[in-house]
Amino acid sequence: METTYWICDICNEKINCEANGYVEWRSIGKNTNKKEIKIVHDSADCQLEGDGVSSRPLIDFSGNTGLMELLEYVSTDEFNNIEENLELIKRIHMPGYEEARPYFARAIREDVPGVADANTKHRYYSQDVLKQIINTYS
Ligand SMILES: [Zn+2]
Repeated sequence: METTYWICDICNEKINCEANGYVEWRSIGKNTNKKEIKIVHDSADCQLEGDGVSSRPLIDFSGNTGLMELLEYVSTDEFNNIEENLELIKRIHMPGYEEARPYFARAIREDVPGVADANTKHRYYSQDVLKQIINTYS
């Protein structure tokens, strides 16, 4: 399993290469949570606009250098929203996560083995479980 594409959070189409993606987030006020961290196409149709929208090219967060930066964001609570920060790390860096992600709710409903394991937090699935979800639905 390897992450070879991302799903744009605006148009739901594939972003086929990290050079074609952007990470965006909205910050409302200085001390409030930075919310709605999104991966979107590098296009006017998909990018957010307006006050408080920040963005960085997806490629900035790729590779080991990008991972370290995202980990630093967690450490400094840059997004003031750890779960969304961790979700971004999983989407960019965890093999199979982005591919399996659209099917999580269905996999829970249909009781794909391992998905509802009481010892695993929702959305923190092992590689085996991610593979199982992909093999079942993708
Ligand atoms: Zn898009």
